[in-house]
Amino acid sequence: MPHPPTSLGAFCRQARLRCQLSLRAVAVFGASARPAILSMYRGREGEIRVKKFDRCACHSKVLYHKCCQPFHEGKDPENALQLMRSRYAAYALNLPSYIMESTHPEYRDFKTDRARWKKELEAFSQATKFDGLRIVEFTDGELTATVTFIAYLRQNNTDISFSEKSGFEKQSGRWLYKSGEVTELS
Ligand SMILES: [Zn+2]
Repeated sequence: MPHPPTSLGAFCRQARLRCQLSLRAVAVFGASARPAILSMYRGREGEIRVKKFDRCACHSKVLYHKCCQPFHEGKDPENALQLMRSRYAAYALNLPSYIMESTHPEYRDFKTDRARWKKELEAFSQATKFDGLRIVEFTDGELTATVTFIAYLRQNNTDISFSEKSGFEKQSGRWLYKSGEVTELS
């Protein structure tokens, strides 16, 4: 197995971001590290940059380990906005399992063929630059909530940014992404 990239070691010294686990994940690729961490480095290993992993990929300007990383590692988001942000970050970090597990079974593009779905999500993540996220509106509720956002994205230098009003539903105590309706870019 290859040694961890030097940039990751430098990053770990600076950020103290579960470095032992991350470095082990890169070293062993599968034995003992957690799936989320593995996916991240498996998918993005060649692209690791200190700056990229310093701040969260949801563009909150908060450090990843204080923002979306706990959700990617199994903690439940407290509200739909946290879930929405962490899903955006999961797309950016190529964490397809997180996307699948936080999608409501009634969502129109929910797929029972998880292997195929995973491949599609990975292909999207790898082909896309995740340039920004702007939250336009968040309406919270007991069991349902909506988040309207603008995702700034690029593929092959083509702007594919879009605005969406997402619907979320709480099921067995967990928020899930249930619907998405494209809205006008504002
Ligand atoms: Zn985040």
